[in-house]
Amino acid sequence: MEKRGQLIIISGPAGTGKGTVVKKLLERNSDMSLSISATTRGPRPCETDGVEYYFKRRQEFEKMISEDAFIEYAEYNGNLYGTPKKAVLDKLEQGISVILEIEVQGAANAAKAFPEAILVFLAPPSMEVLRARLTGRGTETADVIENRMKIAERELCRAEDYHYIVVNDTVEEAAEEIECILTAERLKVSKNKALLDSLNK
Ligand code: 5GP
Repeated sequence: MEKRGQLIIISGPAGTGKGTVVKKLLERNSDMSLSISATTRGPRPCETDGVEYYFKRRQEFEKMISEDAFIEYAEYNGNLYGTPKKAVLDKLEQGISVILEIEVQGAANAAKAFPEAILVFLAPPSMEVLRARLTGRGTETADVIENRMKIAERELCRAEDYHYIVVNDTVEEAAEEIECILTAERLKVSKNKALLDSLNK
């Protein structure tokens, strides 16, 4: 039986540990991949074009919008971020599941375009832990941290738009819980009509 990949959207405030949880999922599941987004944000010192993001000038990004090259895009903190369409569709077709690690507005738009997408909201154990994680990164100024905390509060209000909420207390457990979600989604009767038809012959 042909197997299409699952489209998994993971959102959550900066500092929740989305990146680490996604990395763990990729290590544990060879049939999963991460979509590389395009952004107009400048690269951080440790980032490489084509690895963490495709870094674009605003004009280039806007050209991609006009060419309908994105599944979704959104403005976040003054920069544009978008999910390139072709790479995602190709992988799903090949039976490879694709994770989109994106913010809440883009997630809502992607869910409209792909109703079968599985939306997971990754939450911190508490706001104190979130602040400590943001401060601990050591890469951002106090102003930036305050701004990110405000954005986090707004993002948490959007968790109700998601299908599942996973608390990132430990990375291992969060990854396991997401794997359980994906298994349950795969076993839904509505997604196994062909199997039922073959049994009912
Ligand atoms: P950062 O600048 O810290 O890498 O990312 C800022 C926010 O943009 C994060 O919440 C991240 O998940 C989100 N983001 C990254 N790529 C995309 C994308 O393609 N689309 C949308 N809508 N958000 C994205």
